[in-house]
Amino acid sequence: MAQGRTTHRHRGALDWRLLSLSPTTLTVALVVLAGADWGTRLAGDTLFPGGPLDELAHVLTTLLVFWALGSRARERFMLPALIASVVIDVDHIPDRFGVEWLTVGTPRPYTHSLLLILVVVALAVAWSRRRDVLLAVAIGLAIHFFRDMGEGDSGVALLWPFTDHAFQYSHGVYVAVMVAFVLIDTGLCVQRRPSSDRASSWPPHRARLKRLEKS
Ligand SMILES: [Zn+2]
Repeated sequence: MAQGRTTHRHRGALDWRLLSLSPTTLTVALVVLAGADWGTRLAGDTLFPGGPLDELAHVLTTLLVFWALGSRARERFMLPALIASVVIDVDHIPDRFGVEWLTVGTPRPYTHSLLLILVVVALAVAWSRRRDVLLAVAIGLAIHFFRDMGEGDSGVALLWPFTDHAFQYSHGVYVAVMVAFVLIDTGLCVQRRPSSDRASSWPPHRARLKRLEKS
């Protein structure tokens, strides 16, 4: 049983490293997001490859934002937020099968609205044991709507059911905001460099060399 716990912890640590901020992960995330964002605009509203590319852009947008928010926010909220920022788009599935009752009069399904975020926040207030997970879901949804509004297509009816008006802004604004987050991420990477160097294997290696020099 103890061995099982160790294995689980090891797997968790491995997953967390892949999601942690470093020069390598930041570069990969930035390049893949740029490619996915460009591909999404070329592919348009296609199920494939437009759908997977758009979801990839959503999850990387959330990741870049969370990296900028600092380690406490990442530890508390990042993983559920990443999942929520992609899962919300399952509400498009009925529409793909010709069932339009979730999106009559609005460019995206009704669940793409501030009402859903308010419901999730209300659940977080009421359910203290799951508060962090639910708040993370609300943040993930907010970041998802932020990208949807900047995709340059049809916008998001944020204030449904009060109005069907679709809120949107130019894609250039989305790109500019993401550049700002990437600059913050880069600054955090530079700040962390000395501590990550300390954590590397090189000090023990140097210590070993000193011991050899003395002997
Ligand atoms: Zn969406």
